[in-house]
Amino acid sequence: MKELSKTRSRLPHSGIRQLMELSAAIPDAIHLEVGEPNANTPLHIREAATAAMNEGFTGYTSVYGFPSLRDALCEHLARRYGLTITSEQVLVTTGAVTALTACLQAIADADEEILIPDPGWPAYEMMALAQGSAARRYHLRMENGFAPDLEELERLVTPKTKAIFINTPGNPTGAVLTREQIMELLAFAVKHDLYVISDEVYDGIVFDGTHISPKAFDTDGRVISIFGASKNYAMTGWRIGYAVANPEITALMGKVLLPLISCASSISQKAAEASIRGPQDFVEEMRESYKQRRDKAYDLFTQANVKAFKPDGAFYMLVDMSELDRTADELALDLLKEEKVAVAPGTTFGELTSKMVRISLATEESQLLEGVRRICDFIARHKR
Ligand code: PLP
Repeated sequence: MKELSKTRSRLPHSGIRQLMELSAAIPDAIHLEVGEPNANTPLHIREAATAAMNEGFTGYTSVYGFPSLRDALCEHLARRYGLTITSEQVLVTTGAVTALTACLQAIADADEEILIPDPGWPAYEMMALAQGSAARRYHLRMENGFAPDLEELERLVTPKTKAIFINTPGNPTGAVLTREQIMELLAFAVKHDLYVISDEVYDGIVFDGTHISPKAFDTDGRVISIFGASKNYAMTGWRIGYAVANPEITALMGKVLLPLISCASSISQKAAEASIRGPQDFVEEMRESYKQRRDKAYDLFTQANVKAFKPDGAFYMLVDMSELDRTADELALDLLKEEKVAVAPGTTFGELTSKMVRISLATEESQLLEGVRRICDFIARHKR
């Protein structure tokens, strides 16, 4: 038989998935590897889905999503971030991941370059590579609070650079970009005529400071902001995400999405509408709960003299294990073997985290803290 696609065969494996699969075989393992809230979707959202099914919202929708949901999103984003957008600037997809993929496909061609953060969510690189674009990594250093370095970005940009991915609050860093940092990034994008793909799926999970949406400072339609229901409302399985972009981009994204998904699930869209229009207590309670877990986990690491980055948002914490003479892949496997703790190996996010592991704070508190204690014991035992 002929060979499978060369471009897609070169895609890297996800280190997180590998750890998930290995740890699934260990019944009493502590799971700190997955980026998923440890709560069920709030009841009023589930009830809205049941009502939608019973009322017959069970067919295809427009590829852009239900008009009522797009209107609700416009109101929500106007309230939260002062965005003045119309519904033709909003597109609903099957999770933020599909919005990001469709957005990149609408913007970039195979021979173009995309700037992606290192460390960054692994799917950005996969998206770029899957369509034959080149991924160029810009570094976010722990000692700079994981902020981008504009001088480095200037060195990386070439005439072929088409877009830059930014992610605030960040995965895996938990760093939240300030208004000044966002303004600098936008000025850089304008200077080099780049599109800005702004991944804001953790916008409801900021502990210190506030989330600033880059879309609020977009003067010429080059920013595409991506939001989602998964993280804020514990709706990972419902698969709902949104893109906010200029109408020319949303129209092309719609064309890209038709042969891929036709539309997002009608029932999930109705549930997502309820999440936005309904009470927001759940988001606030979860944020407070993640914050408490962050503080407790960070204190345990500090007491054990382990260097961890205290995140301002999202629900992850990076733990520096460079004192141990092993790669993050080895560290993650050894932690699972010796301590029965599953973590995400830093190698999966880029080269700067090749001696770090990421833990998820979206884990039940006693499990999380037991996992942290075991990581500290492991480091103490194996320190050079
Ligand atoms: N963006 C980032 C930074 C993420 O961490 C994730 C999920 O882990 C996503 C996007 C995808 O979210 P969704 O479930 O909406 O596809």
